[in-house]
Amino acid sequence: MNENDSSIVASILTDYGYRIVSSEDDARIYLLMTCAIRDSAESKIWGRLNHLKSLKKNRSHPLEQIGLLGCMAERLKEKVLSSSEAVDIVAGPDTYRDLPRLFAVNKLTGEKAINCLLSFDETYSDIRPVTNQNDVTSYISITRGCDNLCSYCVVPFTRGRERSRPLTTILDEVRDLMSRGIKEVTLLGQNVNSYRDIQTAPEQINRLDLTDVVKAKENFATGFKTVYKPRTKGLTFDVLLEEVAKISPELRIRFTSPHPKDFTDEVIEVMRRYPNISRCIHLPAQSGSDAVLERMRRGYTKKAYLDLVGRLRCSMPDLALTSDFITGFSGESEEDHLATIDLIQKVKYNFIYMFAYSERDKTHAFHNLKDDVEHEVKLRRLREINDLFRQQATELNNKLIGTHQLVLIESESRRAGSDWQGRIDSNVKAIIPKTNVYNTEEKIERPIGPGDYVECLITSANSQTLKAEPLAITTQAEYQRRERSTELEQQQNYRMR
Ligand code: SAH
Ligand code: SF4
Repeated sequence: MNENDSSIVASILTDYGYRIVSSEDDARIYLLMTCAIRDSAESKIWGRLNHLKSLKKNRSHPLEQIGLLGCMAERLKEKVLSSSEAVDIVAGPDTYRDLPRLFAVNKLTGEKAINCLLSFDETYSDIRPVTNQNDVTSYISITRGCDNLCSYCVVPFTRGRERSRPLTTILDEVRDLMSRGIKEVTLLGQNVNSYRDIQTAPEQINRLDLTDVVKAKENFATGFKTVYKPRTKGLTFDVLLEEVAKISPELRIRFTSPHPKDFTDEVIEVMRRYPNISRCIHLPAQSGSDAVLERMRRGYTKKAYLDLVGRLRCSMPDLALTSDFITGFSGESEEDHLATIDLIQKVKYNFIYMFAYSERDKTHAFHNLKDDVEHEVKLRRLREINDLFRQQATELNNKLIGTHQLVLIESESRRAGSDWQGRIDSNVKAIIPKTNVYNTEEKIERPIGPGDYVECLITSANSQTLKAEPLAITTQAEYQRRERSTELEQQQNYRMR
């Protein structure tokens, strides 16, 4: 999200004549895009600001202005200025359009300039983020903010109310990115599948032939609820996902972070019907204990979560899942932790992002619950989750050895210049040697390059990376036409089980 926000800022500022420089030494203005989700994220920024403060004094040409942007700016507001004299400009996530004015005010008056107003409707939908020429993949922000108010989380306070970008602006951006060579888009939002477009006018919907789907929907996935009043109007995520998937079978589509509650049957059905939507879902669980989930105000039980995983795998048997977990949340006992371990054992994730609970002010937990699990215990539980998931991920990846997978080549491997790196559909990294292979479309042998879909044989694996032998350069549509029958066969087998 912050990477995408940085590209939006870059786009706004280049329109005003500012130039992005490749080296810190050449910069006259230095902007830090920040995160406030955990204390550790903020500590890094304080360290960085100390370093920048020394640059302000000790450089041949001066570093004129330092700006702090994003969630940490929003959380601390004026407090940033009293805590660090290095900072000249403070701007929250909804005020990036105001940056040129803030720069000017600071320059003309010498006063620090700040704007941390949160907006009900800012989605930067008309801004095309700056992308690099050689990029094969791109992010597209489709919702901003969050209404969920999980009891531990500062996001609703730093990013404000949830709002969605008009559907047509997203489709236009996808088409534009494809015309610039992008092969994979990741739709982004704090709760990406809570998407509801309430702005698109009926005439535009008619043009898109969506009339029949504009019905009031307030359904969550079975077994899920929210602390806020559900929204009923607007175009939902399944509609958007289908429209994006229809743009081209050569586009690979991912989305993150979805909330489990918004995996409605309609979303699952769209995923099942369009093989160009990645068979990898990030499904943040946070905990496997019902008591902890209740205190976290996540709106589901372990059973509801597992039932959802069952429904997803029934439709997409080869689905890869990743998740987020927090250890040591208020009152988490050893038994609660074991319930989390049990959930992980049952689901078998390809990747887990895990965090020690970090108390954040303003949140429900800060006001009402005690941060009472010792830091050492939080860390030990993290290690146990980490060991388990690595063992599981290794097993899952080992099962891929000997199979064919479609790798989208992204760039040269970071480790060896003689290799390419890319990702298979379920998002695992694959390394393949730089060789010439047959191109099934062009009917010639040619070198592989970034942006190519390459059918590969997986030859070895560890918990995070696969090694693969390239067989042919092909198209996603061609490859998936052949694989489709295997997926249908797997669905039958899964249902019979
Ligand atoms: N909206 C997304 C995630 C956004 S934050 C979702 O609900 O899944 C990313 C992750 O940070 C969360 O999933 C959670 O695991 C973690 N996180 C959020 N607040 C935290 C806190 N106070 N301490 C530790 N981890 C936290
Ligand atoms: Fe935070 Fe919960 Fe919103 Fe995710 S859904 S951003 S964890 S409040």
